[in-house]
Amino acid sequence: MSFDISAIRSDFPILGREVNNRPLVYLDNGASAQKPQVVIDAVAKAYSEEYSNVHRGLHYLSNVTTDKYEAVRGKIAKFLNSPSEDNIVFNSGTTEGINLVAYSWAMPRFEAGDEIILSIMEHHANIVPWHFLRERLGVKIIWVDVDETGDLDPEKVIAAMTARTKLVAITHMSNVLGTVIDVKTITRAAQAKGAAVLVDGSQSAVHMPIDVQDIGCDFFVITGHKLYGPSGSGAIYIASERIAEMRPFMGGGDMIREVGRDIITYNDAPMLFEAGTPGIVQQIGLGVAIEYMMDVGMQAIAKHESSICDYARSKLDELDWLNVQGNSHTKGAIFSFTLDSPAHAHDISTVLDKKGIAVRAGHHCAQPLMEYLNVTATCRASFAMYNTTQEVDALVDGLELCNELFS
Ligand code: PLP
Repeated sequence: MSFDISAIRSDFPILGREVNNRPLVYLDNGASAQKPQVVIDAVAKAYSEEYSNVHRGLHYLSNVTTDKYEAVRGKIAKFLNSPSEDNIVFNSGTTEGINLVAYSWAMPRFEAGDEIILSIMEHHANIVPWHFLRERLGVKIIWVDVDETGDLDPEKVIAAMTARTKLVAITHMSNVLGTVIDVKTITRAAQAKGAAVLVDGSQSAVHMPIDVQDIGCDFFVITGHKLYGPSGSGAIYIASERIAEMRPFMGGGDMIREVGRDIITYNDAPMLFEAGTPGIVQQIGLGVAIEYMMDVGMQAIAKHESSICDYARSKLDELDWLNVQGNSHTKGAIFSFTLDSPAHAHDISTVLDKKGIAVRAGHHCAQPLMEYLNVTATCRASFAMYNTTQEVDALVDGLELCNELFS
């Protein structure tokens, strides 16, 4: 498939609707992306024709559902260039993926005084589980700040590593500033010092090709609803050496081999970390979404979004009453901003909403970054493969109206 923006837009039925009597301009993709018809159809087909529980039944529908569900592991392995589908653990999204690493890998292994390095740009999903370890084990969290452009020099992360560093848990792309971090350089240095690296790919995997073998990281998390798939779907790539070190933290069906009154034997990974009935149809939908993205082509998506990003940067730069947070040379198409006027981010988003423009307002689950930037909240416009330069123009018109109203 070549990159044909009108064909792509027509694949997403919701983009044809109006909001507040205006054509929808959906710029809240960083929070969750819209779904193409193929995903909606796959979900409807699963429930209307091919649904049963997975792994357990010997009947036709259970086998068909299991085959479709398990086939997604291979699709995600290909999407991330994982060496094997056995390195892909299914889950409900990034939050569950990072909690798995915290409870199954870090909790049994870390001791008081061990160090976890985080960037100041992390989403709460990649902060709170490490606070649990700080509270319960006495682990230290070491923060690395961005510079004034919102850039994060990998050398700063490397300089923060000590003999006590056990883990670097770092975002690949900031959900607030759009900064893309050189996680490969960080991974190389961390592993030379005996520390593991968890990469939060929640935002990056939507916008660029991912190669976990090239990055060399130990853990890479993705979340399905941002990847044009259903909410409640997701996965984590875990390097084989780390899988061997992990103990399951959630117990239940599917992750065991045999359970007796006084004995238990466990299933192999990845199922060892997938207790209970999973998000069956969500995961099937995610497989279709990932195929859709790969058909469009991750390079083509990256190229299109890079041109949208350049256009938006130049247009927003012209608004001298607008303060865009972060201007890194590695920035992707995520723009967080405030106005010079005292208007709250919520007021700006309400005015934009009246014009059919959906943006996010608040702290974006990144309170340490908000504190560092000395703002309580920002508005965020985050772009996806189906956005256009005309939609950037609509945003600029909406912001001009906000400036008139609030200054
Ligand atoms: N990490 C980043 C960078 C995110 O942007 C998000 C979602 O906004 C998350 C983690 C959490 O993802 P989820 O809520 O799907 O688990």
